[in-house]
Amino acid sequence: MIPGDGQRFTYTGLPARVVFGAGTLARARDEVERLAITRALILTTPSQIAHGQAVVDCLGDRAAGVFNGAVMHTPVEVTRAALDALRGAGADGVVAIGGGSTIGLGKAIAVRTGVPQLAIPTTYAGSEMTPVLGETEAGVKTTRRSLDVLPEAVIYDVELTLGLPAALSGTSGINAIAHAVEALYARDGNPITSLMAEHGIAALARALPAIAADPVDRAARGDALYGAWLCGVCLGAVGMALHHKLCHVLGGTFGLPHAETHTVVLPHAVAYNAPAAPEAMGRIARALGLEGGDAAGGLHDLAAAVGAPRSLAELGLPADGLDRAADLAVQNPYANPRPLERAAIRALLERAFTGARPE
Ligand code: NAD
Repeated sequence: MIPGDGQRFTYTGLPARVVFGAGTLARARDEVERLAITRALILTTPSQIAHGQAVVDCLGDRAAGVFNGAVMHTPVEVTRAALDALRGAGADGVVAIGGGSTIGLGKAIAVRTGVPQLAIPTTYAGSEMTPVLGETEAGVKTTRRSLDVLPEAVIYDVELTLGLPAALSGTSGINAIAHAVEALYARDGNPITSLMAEHGIAALARALPAIAADPVDRAARGDALYGAWLCGVCLGAVGMALHHKLCHVLGGTFGLPHAETHTVVLPHAVAYNAPAAPEAMGRIARALGLEGGDAAGGLHDLAAAVGAPRSLAELGLPADGLDRAADLAVQNPYANPRPLERAAIRALLERAFTGARPE
């Protein structure tokens, strides 16, 4: 979509302050002061205790303590424990360092208390750029959208991503690409978001194979983190479609892992939508360096190039789950460029299950 062709569109920019670069963690204290946080509770996971400690070291007397219990899907029990830690430490702000799980915990605390958040993402999931919070209670996931959950400031530090394991780097990066892909054919898409989407896909598509070959390639890590930021903006700006619906069904009902599921499903969802979204396909192909080529095939080849899983079977989906997944995918569907036909969705899932090339 280009504005010169007479199309009308609405663009809503979300407030964001971003500090980007290598070694930018050193700016954490300045950012915390800027947010008027006097004592920050630092949030992370058990496997990223060293990252949590690095934040403590930067904040000095503005660090109130570390809560390292963040887990996937933001369970409310964990949020309650973190709220106890916040009160117990007398903290008046949070610093979340980690992936989407940790950033989700920061959002869950902010929306309940109004405390400011500084997010320091260490994966490519993009949650730090969205006003969306998904939470689980008694196994049921609910999602809310509110500016109150959006972090006030974000530090992207390339150095923190050097240790992101190669396998997670590839799948997390393709998870980010999925946000931009769906932004390119979103019902409420617009030329500004599309600029970021195409640029984000191109940066990640260039960087991910280089990271797979050398996980400490700083230039590639910088490109990937920049691309992830842009793709996260896309996720926060416009509505997602079939691909995200399928991933929510597969993650929510079958417990499949987040980034890996996105990686396996994306080429098939793109192939499904290709006939209904030719302009988006052209832009995806161009961003993949395949001008005039096949967007879905290019994404399939990118997953292969980074050594990512390519079948739902290897992620643990049982073969007898395909019918249920197809049923759920067509219930309460998200807006999608091509109408959802159960038989065609079932066929899409079958190909994703076996790891076949997308059609
Ligand atoms: P994650 O946050 O669960 O991280 C996976 C694991 O990798 C964790 O153990 C983490 O500690 C570790 N890790 C992260 N960065 C690391 C690094 N640099 N070095 C070493 N280890 C590191 O995974 P994710 O894919 O980033 O996030 C997935 C979750 O985020 C899901 O629950 C998803 O629903 C949510 N999410 C939400 C939004 C939103 O807008 N609300 C957007 C994207 C993802």
